[in-house]
Amino acid sequence: MPKRLQCIIPGCDATIDGLTEEQVLAQVETHITRDHPDLELDAQATDSIRANIEDVGDE
Ligand SMILES: [Zn+2]
Repeated sequence: MPKRLQCIIPGCDATIDGLTEEQVLAQVETHITRDHPDLELDAQATDSIRANIEDVGDE
């Protein structure tokens, strides 16, 4: 089932889609590096990102 993450940074309205959690996380890393260079993507940040990934059903 496809996955979607609404960026966890307040005020950022980016959404990141992927077919798997790994794909979403890889794209999150790119997004964070480009748009939120101040955010350190440590284990805690990764955990909260992972917790915010949602399944995308048929729409
Ligand atoms: Zn963002």
